[in-house]
Amino acid sequence: MKQNNWSKRRLSRKIYVGKVAIGGDAPISVQSMTNTDTCDVAATIEQINNIVAVGADIVRVSVPTMDAAEAFKLIKQQVSVPLVADIHFNYKIALTVAEYGVDCLRINPGNIGNFDKVREVVQSARDKNIPIRIGVNAGSLEKDIQMKYGEPTPEALVESAFRHIDYLDKLDFQDYKISLKASDVYMTVAAYRQLAGQIEQPLHLGITEAGGLRAGAVKSAIGLGMLLSEGIGDTIRVSLAADPVEEIKVGFDILKSLGLRSRGINLIACPSCSRQEFDVISTVNALEERLEDIIAPIDVAVIGCVVNGPGEAKEVSIGLTGGRKRSLIYEDGELNQRLENEKIIDVLEQRIRTKVEALTKNRQHTDAMRVEKNKNEPELSISEKFS
Ligand code: SF4
Repeated sequence: MKQNNWSKRRLSRKIYVGKVAIGGDAPISVQSMTNTDTCDVAATIEQINNIVAVGADIVRVSVPTMDAAEAFKLIKQQVSVPLVADIHFNYKIALTVAEYGVDCLRINPGNIGNFDKVREVVQSARDKNIPIRIGVNAGSLEKDIQMKYGEPTPEALVESAFRHIDYLDKLDFQDYKISLKASDVYMTVAAYRQLAGQIEQPLHLGITEAGGLRAGAVKSAIGLGMLLSEGIGDTIRVSLAADPVEEIKVGFDILKSLGLRSRGINLIACPSCSRQEFDVISTVNALEERLEDIIAPIDVAVIGCVVNGPGEAKEVSIGLTGGRKRSLIYEDGELNQRLENEKIIDVLEQRIRTKVEALTKNRQHTDAMRVEKNKNEPELSISEKFS
């Protein structure tokens, strides 16, 4: 997997949501949010498991009532992925889920009442090592900020963010991350750019209410892509009016496209045209479906004819180039199999699985060697690693 080398990541303070590190040199994490009724414990657990199965690092669960907080307790006991509780206004719910082992509180300090209530929540978070996520949203800006700016603007989002940050600063609480979401791509990007240079905390990226699966994925890829390509962003959520499982898949595709995370197959396929020697589209669809269980990163190319086939095949672990009646498989750039076109899907699946097994063994061996080598070497600080 090619890694991006055209941007330097913004240095941020590392915080932990459960066992998942966010910020600093941690990989950019991918999260989604359940849309089941939280009080329906079985349905919510099932959805969390589905979200985790496609790679989610963190899952957010809405906790709007005390009944939902009690349900959250049961859910938390039965899943291992770190959970963020989404809470609005009611500080008692925040205190309750903190007791129940929540891994992060998504709550805006300025919205939970007087300063004593904020202090109580922050004290509980501090005692239990729970970070807070401030979530600013263009659709719910404070009334006076709306009046001042007339309409949501990047500056309005940032001003709202600092209002919440000020509470945490006064209480000397620094373990937070922050999001500044709007449904407008340019506004969102401008807001994050403004805030990025002013605080050291990690940034949670997202385009809110991005839309349905296709339009939302495109919007999110553009907005998040612009920021990530500038080194801004430590955790992402793609907000889609679709199954949350799709949010994770799109999130990983964005990170994979930028070379920032690798998971599963990075499938390079030509769009196909009348030159194609086999049906590229149905082959790619079948392979994606059959190989969904693969987690280890691997680059695969499926190309319809020799115009682009050999060139692409040389760049990937396994590459297929369509030929008349018989196609060609390349492994690590070397041509090493000819096969009848009707066998393409079955043979490619097998070849990819075998290659993944070999790569995984190789990586495990390399990791073990690295651990051995590092045993006696001092660990670098974050700034040394980034310099
Ligand atoms: S690689 Fe061949 S089949 Fe695929 S789009 Fe190009 S010319 Fe068409």
